[in-house]
Amino acid sequence: MSLDNKKASYDDIAERVRNCKACPLHRLRTNAVPGEGNLSAKIMLVGEAPGKNEDEQGRPFVGAAGQLLSSLLEQAGLRRQDVYITNVVKCRPPNNRTPTEDEVAACIGFLKEEISLVRPKVIVALGNTAGSALMSLAGKQWRGVTAERGRKVKVSIGGVELTVIPTYHPAAALYKPDLKDYLAKDIKEAAEEAEEPARARKTLLDFMGG
Ligand code: URA
Ligand code: SF4
Repeated sequence: MSLDNKKASYDDIAERVRNCKACPLHRLRTNAVPGEGNLSAKIMLVGEAPGKNEDEQGRPFVGAAGQLLSSLLEQAGLRRQDVYITNVVKCRPPNNRTPTEDEVAACIGFLKEEISLVRPKVIVALGNTAGSALMSLAGKQWRGVTAERGRKVKVSIGGVELTVIPTYHPAAALYKPDLKDYLAKDIKEAAEEAEEPARARKTLLDFMGG
């Protein structure tokens, strides 16, 4: 798909998110929060739902958890504009509670559309809600984030073959250094996984040169 067509499809999804009233969360929102970023990103990051700052600004991961995420991306050699960032649920749940099964079911179609549009090689599932929703889209078992973190799961979602890397949520990692170390490691792993062909080529050139 050409970049112009991608941009038009993205704008269409974002507009439908902003106008969506498919679940009760629309009544409480200041702004719905569509995903955003590089529409040809090899890496997609999926969070749970907007928090207070995200609801106020209408953009994903702009609060404290977002700042941590940005700095971990940078450590992995990635800039925010290189990746695509979104959430399972696009409107803020009251008091940041976990979205209900019904809310996830009402909203998950948008995430599936985003995946079909961007066609990432790797999705980093940030926290239990994201991991659970993505595995459900892929028709796979989910045993909870503690059991699943750091795995690389090959899946097919919306006609796209990709690897899901489940990890901790940056909000959980903010005050828990051990979780932060795992999250940093998993984001680096995602960067490497997404660059596989380039790395293989480099290895081959090194080999031929040496
Ligand atoms: N937490 C999330 O899961 N998503 C955001 O966009 C911000 C905080
Ligand atoms: Fe629509 Fe999702 Fe917002 Fe519910 S959370 S109103 S399904 S955009």
